[in-house]
Amino acid sequence: MSAFDCLTEIPDVLRAALERADDGVVIVDHAHRITHFNAAAERIWKLASFDVLGRDAEILALKGLQADPVADLRDEISLVRRDGSRIRTAIALSSVKIGGANHYIVFARDVTIEAERRVRIGLLHAVSDQTNRAVIISDTEQNIVYVNSAFTTLFGYTNAEAEGRRAGELIAGRHTDRKAIAKLIKRLMHGGRRGEAEVLVYDKDGEEIWVCARIDAFRDTKGRVKHIFALLEDITETKQLRSLQQLIMGALADEVPIGEIADRLCRRVEEIAPHVVCSLLHVDAAGLIHPLGGPSLPDDYSRALDGVAIGPDVGSCGTAAFYGEPVLATDLETDSRWQPYKAMPLAIGLRACWSTPVKAKDGRVIATFAFYYREPRAPSNWHRRIVEACVNLGAFAIERKEARAEIARLAYHDILTGLPNRAQLRHLITTAIDACPTGSHVALAFLDVDHFKDVNDTLGHAAGDELLIQLAQRLREQIGPEDMLGRLGGDEFVILLPQRNAESAARVAADITEALAAPLKLGSKLMPMSASIGISLYPDHATDIDTLMQQADAAMYMAKQAGRSTYRIFSAEMNGLTEQRLALIAALRRAIAEGALTLSYQPQIRSCDGAIHGVEALSRWRDAVLGDVSPAKFIPLAEECGLIEKIGLWSVREACRQMASWRRAGLNIPCVSVNLSPINFRNVTLAARLKDILAEYDLPADALMLEITEGTFMQDGVAALETMNAIRELGVGLSVDDFGTGYSSISRLAHLPIRELKIDRSFMRDIEKDAAALAIATAVVRVGQGLGMTVVAEGVETEGQRKTLAELGCDVVQGFLYAPALPPVAFERWLIEHCAEQARAMQGRLDVGPAGSDAVRRSA
Ligand code: C2E
Ligand code: CA
Ligand code: CA
Repeated sequence: MSAFDCLTEIPDVLRAALERADDGVVIVDHAHRITHFNAAAERIWKLASFDVLGRDAEILALKGLQADPVADLRDEISLVRRDGSRIRTAIALSSVKIGGANHYIVFARDVTIEAERRVRIGLLHAVSDQTNRAVIISDTEQNIVYVNSAFTTLFGYTNAEAEGRRAGELIAGRHTDRKAIAKLIKRLMHGGRRGEAEVLVYDKDGEEIWVCARIDAFRDTKGRVKHIFALLEDITETKQLRSLQQLIMGALADEVPIGEIADRLCRRVEEIAPHVVCSLLHVDAAGLIHPLGGPSLPDDYSRALDGVAIGPDVGSCGTAAFYGEPVLATDLETDSRWQPYKAMPLAIGLRACWSTPVKAKDGRVIATFAFYYREPRAPSNWHRRIVEACVNLGAFAIERKEARAEIARLAYHDILTGLPNRAQLRHLITTAIDACPTGSHVALAFLDVDHFKDVNDTLGHAAGDELLIQLAQRLREQIGPEDMLGRLGGDEFVILLPQRNAESAARVAADITEALAAPLKLGSKLMPMSASIGISLYPDHATDIDTLMQQADAAMYMAKQAGRSTYRIFSAEMNGLTEQRLALIAALRRAIAEGALTLSYQPQIRSCDGAIHGVEALSRWRDAVLGDVSPAKFIPLAEECGLIEKIGLWSVREACRQMASWRRAGLNIPCVSVNLSPINFRNVTLAARLKDILAEYDLPADALMLEITEGTFMQDGVAALETMNAIRELGVGLSVDDFGTGYSSISRLAHLPIRELKIDRSFMRDIEKDAAALAIATAVVRVGQGLGMTVVAEGVETEGQRKTLAELGCDVVQGFLYAPALPPVAFERWLIEHCAEQARAMQGRLDVGPAGSDAVRRSA
């Protein structure tokens, strides 16, 4: 039978159909000859039908046809064609009977492109399963065609559960921002670039997950979108919780009031947890509740909570604060603890409340953090995570605010008497002057106790303190409710008398003098006492605080000269006093010119091991006529008359010269601290001058520290700050002297290039017995160290003070306990002796072992 005969056995219709088929169709007869080869087969094998018809099927290179008998077969093979090219081909082979004889029909289809796609998808699987970000691929209708294993892990749906579902329906939920996603997809469909959005989505259990969704498209060669590709990153923890933290830290640094911080926190929480109405309540020391923040709660409701006492059955918050445990009321309607309180929240649509106590480091509950819900329910895991983060941040914020309030209170009040101190007085005087109506007066009275030093010297400091306290009480009784009493320090008081003229002020002074005539009772002793009072008047004598204070001081001095126990009102003649001042200035100018000033050095000791931390250089002036003049006197004078600039630079140079000389002699002193006045910082060339001086004496910058007062950065603003930064860049340290007496805000310090804080010596005196002094020292140590500064306590006179400071963890101590400021030679002797003692102590410790550490502590 010829090949052509064979073809005739196939009906015409069928033959025409086979010709038009998309698949290649080959018919082979029982003798392995090819009897039919359609057009599609020609394309697959790249053979013309007239070349193959009648030939042995071997030329088709199909393994299945070489077997005998030929069995049915279905396979995908790699076909090597006549021209050597290779394609993937799907082959289906079956035997049929045509005209009584066995024929074989081969269907073949070129699946190269599909196979490549399958490989690509396989690779994609392999790769996308490697990433921990969830991947969703969907078609243009947003039906999911693929999700990776990270998706399954994050959302709980398997590939099979996800495939075919609409991506939006699967993970979007009540609070998903569908519009944001729709916008991104629309943009892609219109040929736009990929985009990104942060959205809240939901897992299989309905738990919220914040994701960052990056959405892109797979396009065909013509740029048409074929698939949509989404990469989802779980940012629940990282981003959202960190944003809460940044919000609070930023607000604290900016000195934002705690109420505002609480409101911002609540608002942010409500953004990231949209089911929630959030509130923060402060719990005071008496156990009363005060709303701090709750911007979505009506004011009425917050007001109603104010002052409610915490207790075992006081709603969610009161109960949580009472027990120190979280309290969940899933339904306010029925919760027993809410019965007396439920009407208000129910009226505004709140149905459940979950409250968590916020605790201070010492464990006391200082606030509660509540989540309200609009339906009966419990918090989700996400809510619990938010609260975990907020509770700590809230505690941090509230504790810092408490500490700051305490420091502010202490900074504005005299510790001994509780009266306003110098800083607060200035503020009060300014306010009184500003409020003074035209034609009216403000009187300022300076009062100085007569012979107070004698009381201190003969009866001791405790008696002196007691006297001052009683005196303050007596003064208070003599003045009106509008008048103000403050203490400048020592035995100096100020009385501010708003809206009083000279006569009226004189009457008050006379009353006080009389009231003091009756002796005070100190223990069993009766103590006679008197005071001298000087008065100045705004606006008659002066219109600025400083001049008014000087004038009242001058008048007080005249009262002393007039035999004490009396008062004087300032008069122009008193300006004659300035002659004395002029003479002193002339003497100081001479002393500077002739090099008569010297520096004495006071050691600073490291608390941890007793080693030397550095020395403070303090100026000394001995005048041939006037004798020793205290720096407390000549430094303020130098500041007033413009000599301080010279003194400052002189002391830096002299201190550096001395340091270099000590170093050459083998005395290792790590650092010298030099006091500079705020005025020195107005000089923009200060940093350059310091650099030159250090170079001249070949000293490293860290051998020099500059002590500045809070006035330096409080008053002189930008220029001083620039100078400070330039100095810090040099590597020279800055130390804040007399810390705790001024107006400094702690957060302000955090932004300044400061390396060291010195707690003012006024706190030392009472640190062992006065809780307030100890509190401020503790706060300064904590906050200072928290900001990475070294904290130095100055004026340490007793072992008890040293021990207290060591327990606080204060880094460095300085004071008479170790040594007063000593001239260089005396200081060298002291240092050698101190080092020897240190070495002995060390030896003792080595000899005795750990038990010897007591001896070390005693000698340190
Ligand atoms: P300051 O900087 O606070 O210096 C510490 C003062 O406390 C020194 O007084 C020091 O002798 C004294 N002191 C040290 N340890 C104790 C102690 O344990 N108990 C007591 N009660 N006092 C102690 P000094 O030398 O009379 O200096 C007074 C102030 O004069 C200094 O206070 C500083 O503000 C200023 N001063 C001194 N030298 C200079 C200087 O060269 N330049 C500038 N601008 N100011 C200076
Ligand atoms: Ca100082
Ligand atoms: Ca000081």
